[in-house]
Amino acid sequence: MNRIPHVVIVGAGFGGLEAAKKLKKAPVQITLIDRHNYHLFQPLLYQVAIAGLSPVQIAHPVRAIFRRQKNLDFLMDEVTNIDFKARQVLTTNKTLKYDYLILAAGSRTNFFGMQSIEKNGHDMKNISSAVATRNHLLKIFEKANRETDEDARRAMLTFVVVGGGPTGVESAGALAELIHLVLTKDYPQMNLNDARVILVEASNHLMPNVYPRNLQAATLKLLRRKRVNIRLKQIVTGFDGERVTFKNGDPILTHTVIWTAGVRTAELVDALDLEKRAGGRILVKPTLQLPGYPEVYVIGDAAYLEDENGQPLSLLATVAQQQAKHAAENILRELHERPPKSFTYKDPGLLATIGRNAAVARIWGISFSGLPAWLIWVGLHIYRLIGFRNRLVVMLNWAWDYFFYDSQVRLITKE
Ligand SMILES: Cc1cc2nc3c(=O)[nH]c(=O)nc-3n(C[C@H](O)[C@H](O)[C@H](O)COP(=O)(O)OP(=O)(O)OC[C@H]3O[C@@H](n4cnc5c(N)ncnc54)[C@H](O)[C@@H]3O)c2cc1C
Repeated sequence: MNRIPHVVIVGAGFGGLEAAKKLKKAPVQITLIDRHNYHLFQPLLYQVAIAGLSPVQIAHPVRAIFRRQKNLDFLMDEVTNIDFKARQVLTTNKTLKYDYLILAAGSRTNFFGMQSIEKNGHDMKNISSAVATRNHLLKIFEKANRETDEDARRAMLTFVVVGGGPTGVESAGALAELIHLVLTKDYPQMNLNDARVILVEASNHLMPNVYPRNLQAATLKLLRRKRVNIRLKQIVTGFDGERVTFKNGDPILTHTVIWTAGVRTAELVDALDLEKRAGGRILVKPTLQLPGYPEVYVIGDAAYLEDENGQPLSLLATVAQQQAKHAAENILRELHERPPKSFTYKDPGLLATIGRNAAVARIWGISFSGLPAWLIWVGLHIYRLIGFRNRLVVMLNWAWDYFFYDSQVRLITKE
């Protein structure tokens, strides 16, 4: 190949961004495509939903990130299909030929076909859904404040979070704190001791699958201390906007269901006729290449690869970032006519916050919880945010909220 190879990267999320950075000095021309003009730091989306942070603090324009990377063009466009045989990416506006493709299209919320929840519930997957959740939560407090009927008000002040994984746990803990530490001051005439945050999980543990048993138990204890009501082994079947129903239990009267219980691949990945596994993830070779198409790498949430114990790699930013570096290295190896290497995930540990002074962590094989875990969580999340300004603003924001029991973004805006 005499001309400069063209690498197309689909998705400017955790995986796509890392791959593009890794290829900064490589003898390739990169086109990075995303339907949004920003990179979104999804781990803090729940803070937007509970009025703690504003969207601009957790998103950063892609063009600003790559301002100094000469071998990269950014294209804001929706990828509609990929013709693997012709080596072409089709977008809404154009067709791009590639020599190498890195597919990092991520995932979206899985409602498991329950249309009533998709229609009436709230999820946390992008900026619009997080802002919609914030608006809904704040509006319901205004509504409850006007309500004179006790039972109707009680239903309005009942909040159901579905899914006991890290996002559900973080959302439930933060929502309970928003109500009992902040909104209680905004609505002195309403007795917010009646407000309930209920966390529902289908299995018999919080943080199922990934977290060790002692951290699952610590999560339960810390959440209960934050006044979150936890219901395990309950399977949600629907939500009509006023009542959430279960396969095995009495319905709950509520106007709010925050759904964090499932993830499936992005629409683009669903549309591709490839071998898939659980959640629609694309089966990749240990080298992260697409079977039959060695010039195509699939990474992050879109890819299905098992670890040495036969367990699928988790849907984590750390997995996407490590795979991105690996895919970029394999492309460089191929350019030097060396064979690609297999990927191994190096587990950096686990970390989830439950609220003020409360988090659970497993680092270097040691599990711990409480204040030390929370301090690490705060430091790491500030460090991982993109852009010095965002880091500074979030740090100041959190410090203010911590000392003054406040929450900055309590604004009901037009969606
Ligand atoms: C609420 C929440 C909290 C989380 N918390 C954590 C956490 O604490 N720690 C952790 O490690 N992980 C966490 N995760 C998981 C982590 O965010 C994902 O695993 C990670 O984002 C996957 O990276 P990715 O590059 O595969 O996809 P993403 O980061 O999702 O990026 C995919 C990109 O592709 C773009 N895209 C998709 N389809 C198209 C298309 N057709 N055309 C153009 N562009 C397209 C999207 O706009 C997006 O920018 C969380 C996820 C969520 C939703």
